[in-house]
This record gives sequence, structure tokens and C-alpha cells, in this order.
Amino acid sequence: MDKHLRSEMIRQAMDAKETSYSPYSKFRVGASVLTSDGTIYSGCNVENASYGLAICAERNAIFQAAFAGKRKIVAVAVSSDERGFLTPCGACRQVISEFADDKTEIILVNTAGKSKSVSFQSIFPTPPALNKLKK
Ligand SMILES: [Zn+2]
Repeated sequence: MDKHLRSEMIRQAMDAKETSYSPYSKFRVGASVLTSDGTIYSGCNVENASYGLAICAERNAIFQAAFAGKRKIVAVAVSSDERGFLTPCGACRQVISEFADDKTEIILVNTAGKSKSVSFQSIFPTPPALNKLKK
């Protein structure tokens, strides 16, 4: 991926983390999503007093992209306050798979802004058969 785009994705994921609404867990997460037309969407996690209604940063960002009519995800960046690298939860991996392809990249960003990339395929190797309907 283009170096400038990659650092812009990291910056937006880290900025999005600042708007996290996480009064219960105090676990802030920000994400950004690059779509095939080069647009970046971002989102933060949003919790609720009814815990199960919380939404992850990744899905928040992806749903914004979907609302804007985007259907292809090139990359997803995930930022947290951890010193290690937080990976998307199972629910988010399922949602990413809806819009991902074989080349989709996941950029993991730690609290210091250090990053590493993994292929989406490596963290979600066997998408449900239903996904084949959209291919
Ligand atoms: Zn998630």
C-alpha cells in the first residue's frame, strides 16, 4: 500500500480513538477503513449501559463506509491504548469479510503509534460459504 495512505490511515485510527465512548471498560479503540476509491472512513468504539449494545470501532467505521455506498475494503487500521497489537474481534472479522478480498490488509497500531500489517486472510482464513454469493 502507498506509504502516505498507510500513515494517513494510522493517523485517522489514532484520532478516532480519542473520541471513543467507553465509560464502562475504559478500553478505547479507534479504527479507519480504506475503500477501493481511496477514501478513508474512521470510527471509535461506542459502549452502552446495556453492555451487549456496544459497537466496535472497526464496525463503526465499516458501516459508515457502507452507508456512503462503498463496497470494497482495501485495508482496516485498528488502534488501541495497548502496548501490544490489538486485532479485530470475531464479529468484526465477519463484517470485514463481507467487503474484503484476498488482498485486504489489516494494520495494527499500538499506543505508541507503532504499526504492523497482517493479511486479512491470515486472521480469517475460512469465511462462511455464504460469502461466495457476493463473489
Ligand atoms: Zn470488534
